[in-house]
Amino acid sequence: MINIPKGTKDVLPDKSYRWHFIEGTVKELAKKYCINEIRTPIFEHTELFLRGVGDTTDIVNKEMYTFLDKGNRSITLKPEGTSCVARAFVESSLNGQPQPTKMFYITPVFRYERPQNGRLREHHQFGVEYYGSNSPNADVEVMQVASNIFKSLGISNILLSINSIGCPTCRAKYNQALKEFLSSNIDKMCSTCHDRFEKNPLRILDCKEAKCIAINQDAPLILDYICDDCREHHNLVCAGLDSLGINYIVNPRIVRGLDYYTRTVFEFISENIGAQGTVCGGGRYNNLVEEVGGKPCPAVGFGMGIERLMMTLDNLGLSCGNPYIPDVYVAPICDEAKQMYMSFVSTLRDSGLCVESDLMSRSLKAQMKYANKLNTKYVILLGEEELSSNSCSIKHMESGESTIVKLDKVIEFIKVGK
Ligand code: ATP
Ligand code: MG
Repeated sequence: MINIPKGTKDVLPDKSYRWHFIEGTVKELAKKYCINEIRTPIFEHTELFLRGVGDTTDIVNKEMYTFLDKGNRSITLKPEGTSCVARAFVESSLNGQPQPTKMFYITPVFRYERPQNGRLREHHQFGVEYYGSNSPNADVEVMQVASNIFKSLGISNILLSINSIGCPTCRAKYNQALKEFLSSNIDKMCSTCHDRFEKNPLRILDCKEAKCIAINQDAPLILDYICDDCREHHNLVCAGLDSLGINYIVNPRIVRGLDYYTRTVFEFISENIGAQGTVCGGGRYNNLVEEVGGKPCPAVGFGMGIERLMMTLDNLGLSCGNPYIPDVYVAPICDEAKQMYMSFVSTLRDSGLCVESDLMSRSLKAQMKYANKLNTKYVILLGEEELSSNSCSIKHMESGESTIVKLDKVIEFIKVGK
């Protein structure tokens, strides 16, 4: 037997309704905010992520699925959605359109990580990206979209934490202070943090190693170093969230794992799915578009892990939609019925009903057993006696009640009773 690759999951047919439910919910919400979908390829040139995500990040250093294609090009399976959208935005000159450009995506994401609860090698993200606006209200609206997804799914115990990591100017000042603090501690930190110390000390604050977390507790806080413009932006974001009644805390320790963030960064953390509790992460990335070769363009967005969202729903006992159930099962019994039932079933389907029927040449008893398993509301029995008067017998499965109905009245009967 060939097994599924480690860290990946099949969505089997009896569970796909859960995905349709989540995807339907987020698409409906996106529509209210006039956010259109963008679809980009599953793979990109590796260079995009080296530049977009940053070569001091865990993603680029450890987690990418990178290979040479037959033309000797270095290709990488999408390890996140944002740089891909930035590449498409630049390549298709979307900055030439009236701004902002609002986009959402639903995409598989590939990261070579140690598989564990809530951490997969292929997971899926719903992401939102707003390009072209520097307004704090864009940050606020993006966070409101995420917050409303949780709200519409009934999830309440999820906490929004926000921070500002400033702009390159204030970050340079902060990096200096951080390096001063770390210089006496770096020997006690992990080897990855050693590498980060020179290249990108801010990344050290995002380390998941216990010994590094302990040291980072006493590190200087970036919020104490941001410049006046960045502070004003941050204050306006907070005021905007307040005015919309969105609960949040300012957590000055959030820095996020990607290089491209500027100013606002945020995370929604679920209280009930364990260590991998971050369901959604995002922020502003005003330098990303330039980084991937475009004209400077401010942007803000988030990525939400769909598997972690589902875990949250499951752990809270909340609905993740309902499996699909046929309205009716059609059981051909006599020889005549076996000649005509396929076209009869087609007529029912054409009317909009969801219909299942016999493709296994089962006996009547076996068909009834099968229909029962399908949980269908009605079974239509096509027997000799009923067909001789152009009728059929419709059984209501729950009550066991049967009614003789003319064939041309069947659709009406089922629809009225639906
Ligand atoms: P983490 O700190 O858990 O590694 P991250 O900062 O790497 O998360 P992002 O790059 O911000 O995550 O991705 C956005 C969201 O995608 C996360 O908040 C999370 O819900 C989800 N996610 C990220 N990596 C995985 C994974 N390996 N398996 C499942 N979901 C994931
Ligand atoms: Mg990660």
